[in-house]
Amino acid sequence: MMSENTWNLDPALESTAIVQLNTQYELYIDGKWQIPQSATYFPSVNPADESHLSQIAQANEADVDKAVKAARAAYQNVWSQLSGAERGKYLFRIARLMQEKSRELAVLETLDGGKPIRESRDIDIPLACNHFFYYAGWADKLEEAFPGQQMASLGVAAQITPWNFPLLMLAWKIAPALACGNTVVLKPAETTSLTALKFAEICQEAGLPAGVVNIVTGYGDTGAALVAHPDVDKIAFTGSTAVGKQIQRACIGTKKKLTLELGGKSANIILEDAPIDQAVEGVINAIFFNQGHVCCAGSRLFIQESIAHQVVEKLKFRLKSIYVGNPLDKNTDIGAINSKKQLETIHNYISVGLSEGAEMYQPDCKLPEKGYYCQPTLFLDVAQSSRIAQEEIFGPVLTVQTFRTIEEVIQKANNSPYGLAAGVWTANGARIFGLSSQLQAGVVWANTYNKFDPTSPFGGYKESGFGREGGRHGLSAYLQIKN
Ligand code: NAD
Ligand code: MN
Repeated sequence: MMSENTWNLDPALESTAIVQLNTQYELYIDGKWQIPQSATYFPSVNPADESHLSQIAQANEADVDKAVKAARAAYQNVWSQLSGAERGKYLFRIARLMQEKSRELAVLETLDGGKPIRESRDIDIPLACNHFFYYAGWADKLEEAFPGQQMASLGVAAQITPWNFPLLMLAWKIAPALACGNTVVLKPAETTSLTALKFAEICQEAGLPAGVVNIVTGYGDTGAALVAHPDVDKIAFTGSTAVGKQIQRACIGTKKKLTLELGGKSANIILEDAPIDQAVEGVINAIFFNQGHVCCAGSRLFIQESIAHQVVEKLKFRLKSIYVGNPLDKNTDIGAINSKKQLETIHNYISVGLSEGAEMYQPDCKLPEKGYYCQPTLFLDVAQSSRIAQEEIFGPVLTVQTFRTIEEVIQKANNSPYGLAAGVWTANGARIFGLSSQLQAGVVWANTYNKFDPTSPFGGYKESGFGREGGRHGLSAYLQIKN
């Protein structure tokens, strides 16, 4: 018999004792902690309980200029002079130090960002380490990556990251850039700077030459100053499509090479021959992983009509056992929404969905009183033209639509300005190949979802951006390839 209230679990909190936090962080420029010329600091907050974690320096244009100059000097005098094997040694050392500190990094990521400790511990941090190991291995094999071609590093890379996978996005950017011989200035997202600052400590501990990695913290205007700096050779941005478009405009007519990883509204498609229980579990993972703060989240579910009723009933039942709460609790499935602003955005989309006439389902669950939390939400009978089916929500909200034929679902899935990822659930291998070749998405997962690996390239079609990160492809974003 299916009971209504499935779990009643005792708290299993991860200890925060392992985290060493300063009360204030300066800018990491030229291998030293430097007081910002702005003399301004901003707070980082724990979204799980709204407590204050630390004060963080806000870099202005003069600080950014200092960081770019340090990166340029390190590029010319040190980093571009080293052999690939020497660069690789530093990367391996960084990877090992990250691994040694993985528990501290995981707890810190959860404290600062709100994601469940299970995810930061088992996914974010191990993957971030693996990215460094993987690209460390390429550093002395670039000729093998592009046989018969000549190549050169680009110079100074400006890198801007979002708050949803703070350390992982840093790894995606810094590891290939350094492996290819570039130096970097990275600006983390303002709500999640702490693991990037820990990473700066790791670079110091690894003895990385001064200026090879610089971390400038701040809000969007710090990012804009970095993008506008005339002595930057490459810009790598991950974030919203709106900001990505501004950056693209700012680069017109400059020497700057650009890669953009932007938003998504990915389709997750269940065909009638799919193993249904496995597919339901996959749908849960596709949309509720990291509170739905995943650019490639399977936020649009398409179910073949003959099984739609059955799948929706199973989904509703499964939602009742989702555990929303303190992200430091090892039982938690959905942690805290990253910021108050993002929570408001999600609530706003939920009202839009209701006013558009979609049927809403939320399980009965008690949210903690303090902190930023959102119930997992399903919208059924969603119209293809509705805003909740077209726009990225970036939260634990799933829209459900049905279809009759494969042609119809391909057309509906591709009817989106985005094209980051897709999922296909079917027992029929030929259908997997058929769909994956016709879906306009950078990644298509079959009978699984949200699987990442440093060896596979990741990136989008259409307004989800251009360029690839990860794998051998990820190297070409940081090299000038000459034919
Ligand atoms: P955002 O675009 O607001 O911010 C991203 C970063 O850009 C932050 O560091 C921010 O401070 C900085 N920034 C803001 N304005 C800027 C400007 N004018 N110039 C330069 N930098 C600026 O995005 P967000 O809200 O932090 O992140 C969520 C978005 O990121 C979602 O749309 C999501 O899909 C996208 N995302 C995409 C991927 C991907 O790989 N495609 C990965 C993660 C997140
Ligand atoms: Mn924070």
